[in-house]
Amino acid sequence: MLAKRLEQLHPYVPGEQPKDRVYIKLNANENPYPPHRSVSAAVAKACRCQRKRLGLYPDPDSCELRSAIARMLNQTGGVFCRSQVTGKKCSPSPEDTLPFELTAENIFCGNGSDEVLSIVFYTFFDNDRPLVFPEHTYSFYPVYCGYYNIPMNRIPLKADWSLDKEKMLEQANTSDSATIFANPNAPTGISLSRVELKDMLSRAPKNKVFIVDEAYCDFGGQSAIPLLKDFPNLVIVRTFSKSLSFAGQRLGYVVASPELIKAIFTVKNSFNHFPVDFLTQQAGIASCKAVYYYAEKSRLVVEERQSLTDFLRQRGWFVIDSSTNFIFAKKEGIAGHRIYEEVKKSGILIRHFNTPGIEDFVRITIGTKKQNNALKAALKNI
Ligand SMILES: *Cc1c(COP(=O)(O)O)cnc(C)c1O
Repeated sequence: MLAKRLEQLHPYVPGEQPKDRVYIKLNANENPYPPHRSVSAAVAKACRCQRKRLGLYPDPDSCELRSAIARMLNQTGGVFCRSQVTGKKCSPSPEDTLPFELTAENIFCGNGSDEVLSIVFYTFFDNDRPLVFPEHTYSFYPVYCGYYNIPMNRIPLKADWSLDKEKMLEQANTSDSATIFANPNAPTGISLSRVELKDMLSRAPKNKVFIVDEAYCDFGGQSAIPLLKDFPNLVIVRTFSKSLSFAGQRLGYVVASPELIKAIFTVKNSFNHFPVDFLTQQAGIASCKAVYYYAEKSRLVVEERQSLTDFLRQRGWFVIDSSTNFIFAKKEGIAGHRIYEEVKKSGILIRHFNTPGIEDFVRITIGTKKQNNALKAALKNI
């Protein structure tokens, strides 16, 4: 009965979402702070005053939302934690200021960046050559390669866990292939600078897309957005799930040239006309307007990240310097799953991986100060 293509499917396994008891959840890189009040107010208002509207299809192209996202990116340069906030005003730091203004034509949005990635894979990757990406990166990329039957060329990380840029470029040029990776990368938390990204882009195949997944950029990376001016093959994927406390509502987006955005729309309209529902569009617009609030929360996450990093290093852990809302760390002599189990006894969930090469590590999402203090207490016994 089943289609043959099912044999190629190896579904993504997300961090557990337990229902048996209330845990402190530091296992899925969710934001520990709730959305701004104006976001739930926007949803409540849409339900109350626009009840009839709920019975109608939403704007298929999310026009107002895409304008709001473009404005938010112009106000932050794509890095919340360095944005300068005065009252409700937000402006990018000098380092992040964009050399041009983004508009709605540069933005595509979908039902979470996982769906956006799926549409992007369909739009840009053929079956006749391998897609180049790091061995350890977001684990949905190999899942979608299976889904779309796209060959893979996975490049091992270097001994210091950073991307092997030279090897990736060499392989992309050899097979004239597209490239994708997360920057900052997951689960390592390491980021490439814009200078390094520019160097890669200038040496990568020009007739294939170069995709940077910036799910964590707001916590301290450098965005590739300013490079769109010089590289028409650059495609940037971002999400509301992490820095905008929106994982429960599902909203992700692409930033690229208007030409590539049009191509992505063609695929979307051949698959699902309405990936972003009416309430999510309203909540998304309200979130963009409250960006000053999220900028401040991102800064708190960065502070706590430093505090947890210092704490673990003082106790002999190996902790990779992170530019994200999580850290990737290990303790000599204890497997990742043992650390996970110990911490779970204290009512805290963190993530470990059975993937060969990274079994020793745990990935810990940065929580509030209170959550981190509970984690520190749990880790003292290890
Ligand atoms: C979390 C994450 C995503 C998915 O985000 P959603 O918008 O929640 O689907 C995509 N890429 C990376 C690297 C992530 O960590």
